[in-house]
Amino acid sequence: MLAHQDIAKVLVVDLDGRPLTPCSPEKAQQNVNDRLARLDESGVLHLNYRPLAHRRIYRQVQRRDGRICAWCGGLGSTLDHVIPICWGGSTTLDNCVVACRACNHSRNNALPSTFLRWTGYRPTHPVIRAIVDHEAQHLVDVEMILDRKPLASCATREEAQVWVAYHAQTGAWSRPDPQEEPMTHVKPDAPPFTQYFVP
Ligand SMILES: [Zn+2]
Repeated sequence: MLAHQDIAKVLVVDLDGRPLTPCSPEKAQQNVNDRLARLDESGVLHLNYRPLAHRRIYRQVQRRDGRICAWCGGLGSTLDHVIPICWGGSTTLDNCVVACRACNHSRNNALPSTFLRWTGYRPTHPVIRAIVDHEAQHLVDVEMILDRKPLASCATREEAQVWVAYHAQTGAWSRPDPQEEPMTHVKPDAPPFTQYFVP
């Protein structure tokens, strides 16, 4: 029996025809089933979104923010979606900041207001402030944005999956319920972080 890695890989390209990491036939079929890609006659998988855009947006956000975590002021090394992708957040300059791994990982899919309540952070980053100060409205607005934005603008698989679920209009728009336990790894009784982002 062939080991999994010995099975022929499927060539994968993004919407611009730029090559991405090849994948297994099973994964390729899964992408087609999920409406995230199509297979052409030659067996090449064409993604319906642009994962390479993630790197481009991250570079732009880094140029704007430097390498400072917008939440805690520590050394930032990741791109963080302020409205998380599963809540409908997009990979855009007005929804992304630089974050350290600890903040990005510990917040997980929690809304920014929840994360601030649990951590005691007081970020002054304008992107975070603009969203946190009107968070309920932003959660309404994401649906308008999802109405308008093309699948092609999605920069991550999860973002594309949310787009497909939303546009499928099958009730599959599985945004988290705000009443549910916030999805974060921060323990409610964890002591507040001591380092604040000073303007
Ligand atoms: Zn941080």
